[in-house]
Amino acid sequence: MNARRPGRHFLQIPGPTNVPDRVLHAIALPTLDHRGPEFAALALTVQAGLRRVFQTSGPVVTYPASGTGAWEAALVNTLNPGDRVLMVRTGQFATLWHAMAQRLGLDVVLLETDWRHGADPVAIGAVLADDREGRIRAVCVVHNETSTGCVTDIPAVRAAIDAARHPALLLVDTISSLASIPYRHEAWGVDVTVAGSQKGLMLPPGLSFNAIGPKALAASERARLPRSFWDWGPMLAGMERGNFPYTPATNLLRGLAEALAMLQEEGLEAVFARHARHGAATRAAVEAWGLEVQCADPAAYSGTLTGVQLPEGQSADALRALILARFDMSLGAGLGRLADRMFRIGHLGDINDLTLLGTLAGVEMGLALAQVPHRPGGVNAAMAVLAEA
Ligand SMILES: *Cc1c(COP(=O)(O)O)cnc(C)c1O
Repeated sequence: MNARRPGRHFLQIPGPTNVPDRVLHAIALPTLDHRGPEFAALALTVQAGLRRVFQTSGPVVTYPASGTGAWEAALVNTLNPGDRVLMVRTGQFATLWHAMAQRLGLDVVLLETDWRHGADPVAIGAVLADDREGRIRAVCVVHNETSTGCVTDIPAVRAAIDAARHPALLLVDTISSLASIPYRHEAWGVDVTVAGSQKGLMLPPGLSFNAIGPKALAASERARLPRSFWDWGPMLAGMERGNFPYTPATNLLRGLAEALAMLQEEGLEAVFARHARHGAATRAAVEAWGLEVQCADPAAYSGTLTGVQLPEGQSADALRALILARFDMSLGAGLGRLADRMFRIGHLGDINDLTLLGTLAGVEMGLALAQVPHRPGGVNAAMAVLAEA
C-alpha cells in the first residue's frame, strides 16, 4: 500500500487513541533539563492535574512505561512472594494481568466470567467471606475490560469487600476508562489505581500511573516482592519537589500537561457524558444492523468501546482488513478466545459526533462489501441518538 492516502487515517481502536494537535505540538517542544526549575514546575502542574483526574488527594506516580509496567508496579509494591490474591478473568486484559501475577510468584484465586459481563461483586464477596484467616491480600479487577466492552461496578466491589469485613487491598486497572468513564479513586476506596497514557488521556503510548491510597502506602513499607525500577519509594521521595529518581519521559509529560488542561477546559463531567452518548449511539447502530453487542449486561455497557459479534462463519479479521484497505480505518481485533469472532469499535479520547458517524459509516459500508448478513440503517440509528437535544 504505497499510494498516498488523502485525509486523516481513522484510528478507531480502543487505544492507542487519536492524539489532538495541541498535545502533539506540546510534545514537539524542545527537550527539557529534567533536573532544572522549568521541568520541576511542569512536574508539579502534571501532579496536580493527575490528582484531579484520578479524583484523589494522594500521590500519583508516573512511569516511563506502557500500562503493563504500572500493573507490575501495583503488585510488587504491595505484596509478598506467595501472597494469595483474588482476580476475575473478565477478558483478555484480566488474563494478562493474571499471567503476570503468576510469573511474579503470587498465589492467584481466579474467578471466571463468560467475557460478556463485568466482575460479579457477589462472587467476590463470597470468596472473601470464606477466607476466614484473611489469607487473600489483594483483590485485582479491571474496571473497563477493553477486550469485551464490559465495565465492572467498582463501588459494588468495594462494598462486597467491606461487607465481608475483609482486609484485602483493592487494586483496579483503569487503563481504558480513566478520563472517559466516571471513576473516583478516593471516594470509591480504591487502594491502587493503574492507568496508562494512550487511551482516555489522549497521549501516545509511553506513560503509566499508579494512584496510591494510604493503605497501599503502608503495605509498600512491608512488601517483600523484589522491586527496583518500579519502587514507589524513590518516586515519592522527590515528588513534592518535582523530581524523579531516573530520567522521566519529559516530552510526553509536556503533552500530558496539555491533555490535562484540555480535560479541565471541557470539564470531566462533560467528558464522561460525551463518552456515554457515543457508546449509546454506537450500540444503536449495532442493534439496527441486527448484530450482537459483546457485552450482555446493559448496566455494564462501556462508554469507550463496543465489541461487535459477527454471525457464525464470518471472519471479523477479514472485515477489518477490508475496511482498512478501502476506507483507511483501523478497528480493534477480537482478542484471546474472541479472536476473529468479533471486532471492537473504539470511541474514546479526542472524538466528536462526526468522527463517530464517519467511523460507523465505514463499518456499515464494510459490512456490505464483505457480505456480512446485516440490515442497513445503523448510521441513521446513530444519527437519531446524536441529534437528540
Ligand atoms: C491497553 C490496556 C492494557 C495494556 O496496556 P499496555 O499499555 O499495552 O501495556 C491493560 N489493561 C487494559 C484494561 C487496557 O485497556
